[in-house]
Amino acid sequence: MDIAPVLIAGGGPVGIITALALAERGVPVRVFEAEQKVNDAPRASTLHPATLEMLSGLGLLDEVVARGVVARTFQFWDRPTRSLVAEFDHAVLKDDTACPFVVQCEQHKLANMGIARLAAMAHAEVNFSAPVVGLANLDDRVEITVERNGVRETMSGSYLVGADGGRSLVRKSLDIAFDGYTFPERFLVLTTLFDFATEHGVAYRAYFSDPDEWANLFKVAGDDGKGRWRAVFPTLPGQTDDAVLNETATEARLQRFFPKPGRYDIVHRNIYRVHQRVAARFRHGRVFLAGDSAHVNNPIGGLGLNCGIHDAIHLAGALAGVLRGERAESELDRYDAIRRPVNVEYVQQQTIANKKRLEEKDAASRQANFDNLRRTAADPAAHRAFLMRTSLLESIRKIARDPANWKPVLG
Ligand SMILES: Cc1cc2nc3c(=O)[nH]c(=O)nc-3n(C[C@H](O)[C@H](O)[C@H](O)COP(=O)(O)OP(=O)(O)OC[C@H]3O[C@@H](n4cnc5c(N)ncnc54)[C@H](O)[C@@H]3O)c2cc1C
Repeated sequence: MDIAPVLIAGGGPVGIITALALAERGVPVRVFEAEQKVNDAPRASTLHPATLEMLSGLGLLDEVVARGVVARTFQFWDRPTRSLVAEFDHAVLKDDTACPFVVQCEQHKLANMGIARLAAMAHAEVNFSAPVVGLANLDDRVEITVERNGVRETMSGSYLVGADGGRSLVRKSLDIAFDGYTFPERFLVLTTLFDFATEHGVAYRAYFSDPDEWANLFKVAGDDGKGRWRAVFPTLPGQTDDAVLNETATEARLQRFFPKPGRYDIVHRNIYRVHQRVAARFRHGRVFLAGDSAHVNNPIGGLGLNCGIHDAIHLAGALAGVLRGERAESELDRYDAIRRPVNVEYVQQQTIANKKRLEEKDAASRQANFDNLRRTAADPAAHRAFLMRTSLLESIRKIARDPANWKPVLG
């Protein structure tokens, strides 16, 4: 089959999974990544059951489990009293999915696993230090301009996937609006070797509600596989990086969270701006947006990257079907028609609600939230329904129920 390559701007997890899902179906792919290597700063790590099913379809599940940490349960805590409010257990989804658990696997590991697989395929290439600096969205092809070592080169392909992150040049070049808002506070991530599970009974994924300063805690494996914890906190609007990140301030913040004798062993600190935004459209002619270039959200619930991987699998399935002559071109319109509302309903709405629940200041509303979580956890049907939604299984099952739609698992 003589297929013109699909061009992909961005070698983050979404660009790489898109490339792998296309290449697995025999479609030639060319990925262009601006940086010299995959960004390995602490970012997303939570991979939900719906996403694990897709990664299983790509043959990546065993490696993801081996390099990550399996987190079957997650918890809600009341931070001021340091008391557990409710615990949810993905095992209740055992009849709903082959993956009734979450894996905390850092996103750079996932991207690098995909790159290793692509390296063995003659019809796939991943180019680093190769930013896309321009594009032409033509009737019969796309053209992109890539800058390498100060030299500009133009190349063409059948379609272009903009997986180039929240500041997407692809999205901006097409003048696609990115409406929504940016939170005034930034989020601080402190990575420590202190073991909150052994010392305090915290699950590997835990959310702490507090009217003054909410927090999240996650265990990840780390590159050495030895395990470390990420604690996430909001900062005050207007605080400088140094005021938040200096050693005294970070130590004091962790000591306020869980006081302990001796200092916390902090191995990484980062701070970042958080937004809730969705692109006005995910398709423009032969160009598609996927992942953060199409939607960004706060990380509470760990949904953004998962939704990006779902975009990748859907888009790759549709593009491969059309390029291999198995599906009508109109299939491609369904990408925008399906993925955009799914992001709004399952990711934007849930993450906004998750943040509100954690930062609620009104005492009666806090109590009502806690009562609701306890009731939900105690009732098997409600427990399952809650996890179907938070794990994004409900979103992909809803899509798959329509026989005309894309099926999430590759095969
Ligand atoms: C600092 C930070 C911390 C985060 N922490 C969390 C978290 O704790 N939990 C969570 O759920 N989510 C978190 N997120 C969000 C999560 O990381 C994203 O949802 C995820 O990275 C999306 O993957 P992506 O591949 O779409 O985009 P990205 O991972 O951003 O990848 C885009 C890639 O495109 C490249 N690129 C950009 N422009 C060009 C160009 N013109 N040409 C070629 N390449 C280009 C970039 O270098 C990058 O490698 C965080 C995000 C940030 C920025």
